[in-house]
Amino acid sequence: MMKRWQYAIGAIWLCLLLIISTDNENAIAKYRSQSQFNPLEWTELPAAKKVDNSRSIDLNFTYATTNNFVNTKLYSCPRCFLRTDVATAIQAAHRQLQQQGYGGLRMFDCYRPQPIQQKMWAIKPDERYVANPKKGSDHNRGIAVDLTILDNHGKPLDMGTAFDEFSPKSHHTYLELSPEVLKNRSLLKTTMASVGLRHINTEWWHYAWKGNKPPVGKWVWDCNRSRENMM
Ligand SMILES: [Zn+2]
Repeated sequence: MMKRWQYAIGAIWLCLLLIISTDNENAIAKYRSQSQFNPLEWTELPAAKKVDNSRSIDLNFTYATTNNFVNTKLYSCPRCFLRTDVATAIQAAHRQLQQQGYGGLRMFDCYRPQPIQQKMWAIKPDERYVANPKKGSDHNRGIAVDLTILDNHGKPLDMGTAFDEFSPKSHHTYLELSPEVLKNRSLLKTTMASVGLRHINTEWWHYAWKGNKPPVGKWVWDCNRSRENMM
């Protein structure tokens, strides 16, 4: 039987959670505006829809659904914004893969606004899975991407695990995988390296720009406005 004080503690805890999440929503609403958005610094994918007159870069953002590791819809809609240098690199990698007969790239995540990082952290304050928003991650700077490769039928290549599977199997150093999976991971790694993006060991899908580290971005895109109207 639950004692009265246990109910009280439960109720206080619920209230705290509610306050934290309302605060986050207010912060996100505040930043969902043109303030701080400098169109000279940011490019949107697939603004490059017509690259090569072929398939545009596929967006498959689980964070714009509830089907992700925090079971929460973090983005109102999927949009891939990146610092312009990084966007150019991704487009080059996409073309490179298409020239080799693949469908191209599929993006799982690109720029992640700092207020969204804050929301993620409030739900899962565990640095093994989520970057502490105080430090900011390369996604918050607009220089990191989560991605995979599609075959020429638009099907993702077998990378051995799903995106965001936080297990040793997702590590580049984990080699007990089929030769096909190892070949696919290596293709992604060499393609990204050739355009200036570096891998991290623990997530086969994550790549970050090797160049300069710009500051963390706080602006949040408005689903109803095109990039041109966000100025
Ligand atoms: Zn990532």
